[in-house]
Amino acid sequence: MHALITEFQRHAARWRLEHTRVMPAAQAVNLRRARYVAPGVVAVNGVCVLWLGISLLTRHEPSTTEEWKLGLLLVHLLMGLCFGFLAWQAYRLRHSPKSFWGRQLPVLMVGLGLLLALALTSLDQWITPNITPFLLAVMACSLAVYMPPGTSAGLLASTYGLFFYAMKLTQSQAEWLLSNRINGLVAVALAWALSAVLWRQFTTLTLQQEQLEAANIELQTKQKELQRLTRLDGLTGLYNRNTFVELTRQELARAQRQGSATSILLLDLDFFKRVNDTWGHPAGDAVLKNVAVVANSTVRATDLVGRLGGEEFIILLPNTTLESARRLAEKLRANLEHSPVAWEQKHIHSTASFGVASTTALENHDFDHLYSHADKALYTAKEKGRNRVV
Ligand code: GH3
Ligand code: MG
Ligand code: MG
Repeated sequence: MHALITEFQRHAARWRLEHTRVMPAAQAVNLRRARYVAPGVVAVNGVCVLWLGISLLTRHEPSTTEEWKLGLLLVHLLMGLCFGFLAWQAYRLRHSPKSFWGRQLPVLMVGLGLLLALALTSLDQWITPNITPFLLAVMACSLAVYMPPGTSAGLLASTYGLFFYAMKLTQSQAEWLLSNRINGLVAVALAWALSAVLWRQFTTLTLQQEQLEAANIELQTKQKELQRLTRLDGLTGLYNRNTFVELTRQELARAQRQGSATSILLLDLDFFKRVNDTWGHPAGDAVLKNVAVVANSTVRATDLVGRLGGEEFIILLPNTTLESARRLAEKLRANLEHSPVAWEQKHIHSTASFGVASTTALENHDFDHLYSHADKALYTAKEKGRNRVV
C-alpha cells in the first residue's frame, strides 16, 4: 500500500511538472478557440431568443408557460450578450494569450456557460423534468477548453453543487428531482473524465512536439557545424583547399565579367620542418595559427585566405593588379617576420617566401594557370634565399 502511494505521488509530481510546462500552450489554444466558440454561442442564443419571442407573440398559453418562455428568453438573451462581450474580448486579446485576461477568459467563458445553462435547466423544471441544457453544457465545456484535471474537477464539482440545490428550487416532484440529480452527477463525472483524457492527450502531444522541435534545432546546429567543418581547415579556421579553389573560380568568373584584374599569393613558411624539430609539433601548429591571424589582419575583408595544406597558404586578391599584389605580399612578409610566436617563455621567429601571380580580364587565365605561375615564383623565391616575394 505504501509503495502504491509513493508510486502515485511520483506520477502526480511528474504530471504537475508537465502541466506547468504545457500550460502556456493550452492557454493559447483555449483563447483561440474562445474566438470561435463565443460567437457560435451568440448565434445559437440569438436563434433561441427569436424562436421564443415569436412563440410568445403569436400564441396565447397559460400564464405559467408564458412565464417559463419569458424566463428562457431572458436567460438566452443574457447568455447571448455575455458571450458577445466575451467574443469581442477574445478577439481583442488575440495577441496576448499570456496576459492575465488572456489566461482567464476561456475559464470565465466555461464558468459563465455552465452557470447560465444551469439557470435554463432550473427554469425548465417548472414545465418539464428535462435537464438537457445542463448535460449539453458540461459536455461542451469539457470539449471546448483544455483544463488540468484539478481545475476541471473544481469547476465541475462546484457546478454540480449549484445544480443539486437549483433543481430543488423549481422541481417539486421528488422522483424527478432524484433522477435529475443522479443523471446530473453521471454527466458531470463523464464530462470530467472526457476533459481529463483530452488534457492528457494534449499534454503528450505538446511535449512530443517540444522534443521534436528541440531535436530539430540540435540537428540543424550540427548540420551547420558539419558544413563549416567541411569548408574550413580544422587547425587555422581558414578556407580549406577545396573551398578556396571553388571560391576562386567563382571570383575569376565575376572578375572576367567586370573586366577587373585578379591576383593570388602563395605563401610557404621557410624551414618550417626545423620549427617542428626544434620546438615540437604543437609549437609548429601555433606558428601555423599565427600565420592565419597575421594574414587575416593584413589583407582586406574582401580577400580570401586559405590553407592549401602543411605550411602552405594561399590568398586571393580580387580587383588587384600584379604590382599591388606584390606590395601586399611584401607587407605580409614583413608582418610575419616581425610577429614571433610566444612559446614556453621564448619566441619562435619564422619567415615565409611568397610567389605572386596575376591575371587581367583580357588575359582570362584560369585558377590552374595562376596557381602554377605562383608556384614557380615561390620556388624561385626559395631558391633566391627565402624570406622574399617573387
Ligand atoms: P622550405 O623552406 O624549403 O619550405 O622548408 P620547410 O622545412 O618549410 O619545408 P618542408 O616541406 O621540408 O617541411 C614542411 C614541414 O611542415 C614538414 C611537416 O612536418 C610540417 N607540417 C605539415 N603540416 C603540418 C601541421 O599541420 N602541423 C605541424 N606542426 N607541422 C606540419
Ligand atoms: Mg612546403
Ligand atoms: Mg616550407
